[in-house]
Amino acid sequence: MGTHFSYIADQALPSLEEEEVCQHCEQEGIKAYAVRATILDPSLSADPELAEEEPQLNYACESCIKSGNLALDEDYLNDLKASLPKGLHNRIENPQFAHQPYIQFLHHNDWPFCCHDLTEYIGETPEADEDYATFTCWRPMSPSVADYALQDFYPLENIEPFFTMRLFRCLHCAAKYWNFQYSGLLWPGPTHS
Ligand SMILES: [Zn+2]
Ligand SMILES: [Zn+2]
Repeated sequence: MGTHFSYIADQALPSLEEEEVCQHCEQEGIKAYAVRATILDPSLSADPELAEEEPQLNYACESCIKSGNLALDEDYLNDLKASLPKGLHNRIENPQFAHQPYIQFLHHNDWPFCCHDLTEYIGETPEADEDYATFTCWRPMSPSVADYALQDFYPLENIEPFFTMRLFRCLHCAAKYWNFQYSGLLWPGPTHS
């Protein structure tokens, strides 16, 4: 479990290198994270007029994300829900999950679940001491994904088409999952150029 956000490991946080200004409180020099959210009450933001006109935010600081004044984008929420069993729908509305940075998938937001809970996003590449073979493929978008082992995809930058690799671990058991999505109809698999 991350020390900043429960469902995103610290090393996997989508922090922005350049724009170190929060779009909600306008504090400078603090860590800002990618979000996909709408300001609920403009009067609580640093620039209420701007917040009224442009309620959509792309980045915000940890305390604003957790403040409850930023609502996760509804499309994102619905897309996540569509990939989950009904019994887990309340989990994504839980502040621990709803009030976190935005983790983008290439196609639809297929966030793995395990042990009646959502899993924790841990990044794109296993940690140095992690065994690739301990990860299970999560609902492959095509047989050309499932036919390969996780290590076949690395190093990721050698894979040609647009893709996202998302790795997750269960917060309750030892299970780990990889979710690979790509663009390109006739993709041959992770053959390195
Ligand atoms: Zn802020
Ligand atoms: Zn589990």
